[in-house]
Amino acid sequence: MIFEEKNKSENNWPEQTRQLLEKQKTSWKLCRNNYEALGRIQTRKYEFENFDIKIQLNPERITSSSADVGAPAIKLRKCFLCLENLPKEQECLVYNKNFVILSNPYPIFQEHFTISKKHHLPQTIIGNFEELLDITHALGKFYTVFYNGPKCGSSAPDHMHFQAVTKNEIPVEYEFCMMIEKLGPMVLRNGKIDVRFFEDHLRYFISFESQYKGELLFAFKTFVKAFKKISLLNEEPLMNIIATFHERSWRLIIFPRLKHRPHQFYADDESKLLISPAAVDMGGLLIIPRKEDFEKIKSEDIISIYKQVTLPKEYFEYLRKKIGEIFTK
Ligand SMILES: [Zn+2]
Repeated sequence: MIFEEKNKSENNWPEQTRQLLEKQKTSWKLCRNNYEALGRIQTRKYEFENFDIKIQLNPERITSSSADVGAPAIKLRKCFLCLENLPKEQECLVYNKNFVILSNPYPIFQEHFTISKKHHLPQTIIGNFEELLDITHALGKFYTVFYNGPKCGSSAPDHMHFQAVTKNEIPVEYEFCMMIEKLGPMVLRNGKIDVRFFEDHLRYFISFESQYKGELLFAFKTFVKAFKKISLLNEEPLMNIIATFHERSWRLIIFPRLKHRPHQFYADDESKLLISPAAVDMGGLLIIPRKEDFEKIKSEDIISIYKQVTLPKEYFEYLRKKIGEIFTK
């Protein structure tokens, strides 16, 4: 592992991040091979009413998708995000003292990074949400940043990290404006923040859009407070977040979740589908590591998988009511 701690200018994080990956593709064979393989990867599209779901066959993601993220297994393994355990070829770009930017050697997109805390601290968005806004602001020119909760998609639930990928590649990002136009989801606005609730896309999600950090912090706090009331005690409410920064404004797309994996994941007969939904999957791109699953999956399976892992309608309605209260106070 090699440290890279050079130019600290706030303005060129996107360029430095891009350079890091280019460099790693030259110096690290595994990284280069996996990015090259991405160019030959198979994808397929399923058209639903007013939106698409894509699937990607990506065998290199098998470790991540099938990771045992239960507490006993996590305790037994060496943390792969701790600096001392990184592969010797891995270079780090130190970001604002607390985080390091790393090229992800098992990519889903042409550019894919892990942004992890320097120290071994648990994965949680509570206490790190402002960091998410700052990182998204810093990298927003080229990249989208996302968060996977410790119990819904993160393969390192014991080590705090975000991921960053090429902007506008996740379907929900490039479909967002069209979704608003065609379906006219309910919008709440007060001149400083727009909040929308999406119910017609197989999965339920909420968007926050604002150029004011304080408004986003408050809206998120309100969301978490309400979500905690309908979640298990002593556990972070299950969620994935996709964050972008464009024209001085943040957009956060939040997927509140009921559970991590659908029953097809655990099946041991021909109904098995090794799909473990995280932020990208909730965003409309299902990552499928096994060829047999890629070949047999049908649109009914996609509907079934989303239905199991998304928050049920009545819980979503509750969140909508509670978040709505910030606009009436
Ligand atoms: Zn660690």
